[in-house]
Amino acid sequence: MFEKINILGLNICRVNMKDSMNFVKGAIERKEKSIIFTPNSEIVMVANKDTEFKEILNKADLLVPDGIGLVLASKYLKKELQERVTGIDLMEEMLKYANEENKSIYILGAKPGVAKMACENIKAKYNNIDIKGSYHGYFKGFHIGMKDHMEEKLVLKEINEKKPDILFVAFGAPKQEKWINEFKDDIDANIFIGVGGSVDVYAGNVKRAPKIYQKLCIEWLYRVIKEPFRIKRIMLLPLFILKVLKNAK
Ligand code: UDP
Repeated sequence: MFEKINILGLNICRVNMKDSMNFVKGAIERKEKSIIFTPNSEIVMVANKDTEFKEILNKADLLVPDGIGLVLASKYLKKELQERVTGIDLMEEMLKYANEENKSIYILGAKPGVAKMACENIKAKYNNIDIKGSYHGYFKGFHIGMKDHMEEKLVLKEINEKKPDILFVAFGAPKQEKWINEFKDDIDANIFIGVGGSVDVYAGNVKRAPKIYQKLCIEWLYRVIKEPFRIKRIMLLPLFILKVLKNAK
């Protein structure tokens, strides 16, 4: 459907925010179950060491370029991506749309209480959204393949009773992508999207980088300043650039 750009083995869709939202709206109108993932350059590097993860990402119905690293790589490969489409911006656009069209959402993930708080904040901002519910991301049996665990079964049952138009899953990568891949056929939801730490931002636990960082596309720098433990993950960014340069030769 969308033109794809191969960046280190990941088939990233050549889309901007408008295309991504048109995809979301169309899939909901036609009730087509669809999976959306938002890889950035760190995730591309992780996927290069985890074949299963790479295959799962490539199976998504929409794989958007979340991060300036991917946009720069595409320029170098002379198949320029139009813009980055970050997970959190896409989540915000989806919430706006859900508010306008009275669509329903369910938030699964983050620490106990966080998704609930995010739902309350979202409701305060967008009171027309039909919030079906939330559940934290540390339930028992939370292991890929352990379908028969009681708490996990209850979570699946609850989501199936609520039948949300959009299921936001926030376990961080690659857990959320693997979990969605494992359970998508058992869950009655329309759009599945992995949103990582965005739920923490909606809950007000984590502050998104100030606008200036967003404009300069250096939100990663802000995250390292605030959460120095991320340095190891951020170090994947220069390695990503080197690998793109090397592979393009
Ligand atoms: N998380 C979860 N279950 C787990 C592991 C992580 O719900 O088993 C949550 C964690 O509490 C956090 C999110 O997943 O809210 C991961 O956020 P992070 O910012 O690390 O993800 P990123 O956006 O960088 O992928």
